[in-house]
Amino acid sequence: VAKAEGRACFRFYNEEMNAQAVEQLKLEEELRDAMRNHELELRYQPQVDTRTGEVVSMEALVRWKHPDRGMVSPGEFIPVAERTGQIIELGEWVLAEVARHCQYWDSLGLRPFTVCVNISPLQFNQTELPVWIGEFLDVSGLAPERLELELTESAIMTDAETNIEKLRKLKSIGLKLAVDDFGTGYSSLSYLKRFPIDTLKIDQSFVADMESPDGAAIVDAIIALSKTLKLSVIAEGIERFGQLDYLVRRGCDLLQGYYFAHPIYPEDVPDMLCQNFLTELQAS
Ligand code: C2E
Ligand code: MG
Ligand code: MG
Ligand code: MG
Repeated sequence: VAKAEGRACFRFYNEEMNAQAVEQLKLEEELRDAMRNHELELRYQPQVDTRTGEVVSMEALVRWKHPDRGMVSPGEFIPVAERTGQIIELGEWVLAEVARHCQYWDSLGLRPFTVCVNISPLQFNQTELPVWIGEFLDVSGLAPERLELELTESAIMTDAETNIEKLRKLKSIGLKLAVDDFGTGYSSLSYLKRFPIDTLKIDQSFVADMESPDGAAIVDAIIALSKTLKLSVIAEGIERFGQLDYLVRRGCDLLQGYYFAHPIYPEDVPDMLCQNFLTELQAS
């Protein structure tokens, strides 16, 4: 009986896996078309300086306007693109689009602000990344100091010794570097100290969990670590005043989340830059 059940289980598992594989394959093909058919778009989410209330930076976030399925979330297609290698082309498109938007904002005479761009592990692992970005900046005319790369903790901690050199090269171009989703990977503190990074980005899962003592303790620890290492610290996923209040009191430098704004269209960036959130921040 056990054997028969085992087999049934195995078949079920297989069919499920098969359906998943078909779905992935379909998504992969559609993503190829999406890039060709201009179905991808960028949104920008503001990051607020807790001392001045000013929007000092924006994170570029990719969106896929699928012809039949509507908006497909990056949480769904980025992992597929990462597995198939399409993320390389996608990542190049994102940077080119950011450069184009910066040119547009500059033409309106907006004050300069930093744009943060997510770099996937596969992109980061390319040996030629620093050279490619250097050339991209030359050709596009985008000023390096306007660009901050968001790297994941696991990407930079895997093969850390080699990565120090790569991070140094990226820094020497003049870029800023942030560690995204910080706290969810396994950081070696000794490497963290040696990496030429600028910013730690507290993962939103800790912010969501901040009302619990454990969650608050983790947030406290990351902020303390950032002060010790003289890094700037940002918290993402701020949705409620209580979270803002706590993080401001703890000396978090920057905040990002729906409480301030959802990711917005590039056309709405000028208005967003005029906003000041100091009143909200000082209420705490
Ligand atoms: P991430 O880089 O950690 O980005 C933060 C995510 O949290 C974004 O989701 C953002 O829309 C969402 N978010 C912002 N504020 C709040 C909030 O207050 N509450 C909640 N619940 N969520 C909030 P999104 O845009 O769906 O992106 C998901 C992930 O996909 C990103 O996580 C990033 O890892 C990846 N991604 C997005 N755009 C790109 C891209 O251009 N390139 C690469 N390589 N990855 C990208
Ligand atoms: Mg990010
Ligand atoms: Mg993140
Ligand atoms: Mg994330």
